[in-house]
Parts: sequence; structure tokens; C-alpha cells
Amino acid sequence: MQSQSHTGSYYAASVNDVTDFAPLRGDHSTDVCIIGAGFTGISSALHLLERGYNVHVVEANRVGWGASGRNGGQIIGGISGEKVIAKNLGKDADIVFKDLRWAGHEIIRERVLKYGIECDLKFGYLDVAIKQRHLREQQADFDRMQNDGFPHEFRKLSAAETQATIGTSAYIGSLLNMGNGHLHPLKLCVGEARAAVSLGATIYEQSPVIDIQKGSRPRVVTQNGSVTADVVILAGNAYHVLERKLRGIMFPVRSFIIATEPLSEKTVNQINPKDLAVCDPNFVLEYFRLSADKRLLFGGRCNYFGEDPNIIKQQLRPKLLRIYPQLSNINIDYAWGGTIGIPVNRVPLLGRIAANIFYCQGYSGHGVNVTHLAGKIMADAVAGTVEQFDMFANVKPLIIPGAHYLSTPMVALGMMYYKIKDRL
Ligand SMILES: Cc1cc2nc3c(=O)[nH]c(=O)nc-3n(C[C@H](O)[C@H](O)[C@H](O)COP(=O)(O)OP(=O)(O)OC[C@H]3O[C@@H](n4cnc5c(N)ncnc54)[C@H](O)[C@@H]3O)c2cc1C
Repeated sequence: MQSQSHTGSYYAASVNDVTDFAPLRGDHSTDVCIIGAGFTGISSALHLLERGYNVHVVEANRVGWGASGRNGGQIIGGISGEKVIAKNLGKDADIVFKDLRWAGHEIIRERVLKYGIECDLKFGYLDVAIKQRHLREQQADFDRMQNDGFPHEFRKLSAAETQATIGTSAYIGSLLNMGNGHLHPLKLCVGEARAAVSLGATIYEQSPVIDIQKGSRPRVVTQNGSVTADVVILAGNAYHVLERKLRGIMFPVRSFIIATEPLSEKTVNQINPKDLAVCDPNFVLEYFRLSADKRLLFGGRCNYFGEDPNIIKQQLRPKLLRIYPQLSNINIDYAWGGTIGIPVNRVPLLGRIAANIFYCQGYSGHGVNVTHLAGKIMADAVAGTVEQFDMFANVKPLIIPGAHYLSTPMVALGMMYYKIKDRL
């Protein structure tokens, strides 16, 4: 597992609750043992607990330490790799995806209400276009949403309307979608973990899993203890390197975020009065939004794989200023990075290592939404309903031999390829 500090992020500095669950010691037994306390692990745990399962979660660091506590907080619709899955589904694909695209959003809404989770949840999102082909893609999305009877406000904005909405002339149009939104991801993850504990979950922190002993009841082993379970779920996503079968099917891609100092009311009114999350359509993309205390959180990729906040600031600041030159005198208070799991064929990786050991990972930057759906699908699968699970599991992952050992140069090469593609 990579060592990445979590303390430098704006989220760690502004979270309303810090977990301190005891490490795993001694030998325990449960129905389901989940490895990883990010959105996938905690969401799966909550769905299982709500159905009466006994659940233990084993986390190497802290709840939300991985991508779930570091991300852009954007609740984006859709599932990456849809087209690949659709080929397997044939004519049923449209009906299946109509519901699934936004299912995670509804789960988040329900959880926040049901468990009283305070996580700065807001709705409103702008998909911005840089090139003509992006406008054509937005038109296709718009037509599909209209056909599907999408229940929230959505409309296309011209270049001038886009500029009036987000105070920049960087884009040639956009698609407003009031069903997508944004939130403080670490607050949500910790809130969901507290909800899981209130339903009887046991969470162990600071407990890296070093072995999974397979058998009729697999045993999850850490330095000082173990959990034997009927079923194990691997939810370590891009940070998980234990299982051979999962190597080479997903690239661990780094993404970075900077957070400005809080902006004045005047500036907020100039750049984002409707408090929308904004995302561009590139593969090597940029995304931004305001936090609850009105900082601009701006994310994108750097030509860098480390964690030095000064280097992250140096690389992201010019990108931010290209969009908002008016922020040139604003200080950047925080800079951090995290690792996203991008499957080679972009299809989320749900499958089995053995009959009683499942894995669930790889959402390509759509994880806030899709992890919440995936948690439900995993709970269904544990309970024996595998229709949706199989929809993903039946797509054969593409494997790049040796990618695990060469991941940094491979990712660099891959990113170069996609940067060139984005420019076309
Ligand atoms: C900078 C950044 C910005 C992003 N922005 C967005 C966004 O705006 N919208 C969006 O939808 N998605 C976004 N994503 C993607 C999203 O955050 C992820 O898809 C999602 O959080 C994945 O959740 P997860 O629980 O599967 O993995 P993670 O949150 O990474 O959790 C995995 C956990 O497993 C633990 N673990 C791993 N191995 C072991 C082990 N051996 N023993 C015990 N524990 C282990 C890790 O410590 C970690 O806590 C972003 C990601 C990053 C990094």
C-alpha cells in the first residue's frame, strides 16, 4: 500500500468528527469481513447491516483515508465503461442504465437524511464544454435525459450563459444538471461509518491486512489479529495490492486538489453564485467547486506523483488562473493528492477471488456516486441476488501484463496518450 499523508487536505482540516477505532487484536468471527473503510467498504457494510448481517471492517489507516476522504466531492451521474457493459446487455442496456446512472445519488440522499449526516450536501452541477465535440456529447446526454424523464432540472447553457453562471469565458457551453451535486466527502464517509457502528458494525483502524487465508470460512489476517468470516469483501480500491488476481487490471492514477483561502462574497457572486460543482469533459480533466466556507477547491492532474504541497500548488495554480485570472491575488491554503483506480476497460471491477471472497473497485473518478450503488450490489450478492453483480462481473477485465511492477511509467505513458486525445 502506498504511504500518503492525509493530514494536509482541506477535508482533514475541516472534518467535524475524527474516528479513533481500536486496531484489530485477537481472533474474531463474523458474517462478513470487509477490507477497506472508504465509500465502497462502508457503503457495503451499511447495506449489509440494514439487512441484519454482522459486519467487521478492517482498515489499514483511518476511515476515509483513501480516495473517499480526499476527492473532489462531486456527485457525478453515470457509470464509467457503460458502452462496454451495454454490449453484453444488448437491447436491455438502456432500461438497465436508466435507473443505475443515478442510483448512487439517491442512496446518498437517503443516508444523509436517515442518519442525520452533516456533510455540506448541495445539488447543482455544470458539465462544461471546451470543444465542439463536447457540445455534441452534451446534446446526446440531454436527449437521453429527456427520453428517460430525468426528474431534476436540466438544461443546456450557451457560452454567454455559462460565463454568466460561473464567471469565466473558458468554456463554449455547458449542461446544467440539478440532480448531480457536491459534498464534503470525508464528512460523509465518517458519518456513514458512525451510522454503521450504530447498527452494530465493528471497525478496526490502523490494521493493514497482510494475508487472506482462503477456505470454507476465509480468514483475514493482520499483524496482531484475525477475522474469520462467511464472506470477505475486498474494498481497498487503488490502495490494495494484496491479491495477485487484481494486479494489472486497474491503473492507480494520481489526481490533485488545491483549496484557496475563503473568498469574499463579491468574488463568490462573480464566479459561482449558484454554488455548482463544475467539471470538464477531458480524460485528463479539471474540476472545481466551492466548499461550505467558500474556498475554491480546484482539482486536476499534475506531472508529478508525490505529495509535496508546494509542488502541487505550483502545478495546479496556473491551471486555476487560466480559468479565473481574477483570483491571482488569492492564497492557496491547502494542496493534496489521492489515488483513483482506473480499470483498463473503464468498467468498474466487481468479481470474485473465490466463491466467498468478493472484490469491488475501479470507478474511474465517478466513485462518489458509484461506490454507493456498488455497496448495495455487493450486499445483494452476499444475500444471493447476483443479477446486477453479474452484469459487471461478466465483463472480462483487460489485463496489462507487468503493469503492477511498471505502474508509474505505464500511467505516465497512458496519461500522455489521453492528453493528446483530449487535444484532438
Ligand atoms: C483527488 C481525487 C479526486 C476525486 N474526485 C472525485 C469526484 O469529484 N467525484 C467522484 O465521483 N469521484 C472522485 N474521485 C474518485 C473517488 O474518490 C473514488 O472512486 C472512491 O472514493 C473510491 O472509494 P473506495 O472505498 O473504493 O476506495 P478508497 O476510498 O481509496 O478506500 C480504500 C481503503 O482501503 C484501505 N486498504 C487498502 N488496502 C488495505 C489493506 N491491505 N488492509 C486494510 N485496508 C486496506 C485503504 O487504506 C483505504 O482507506 C476522486 C479521487 C481522487 C483521488
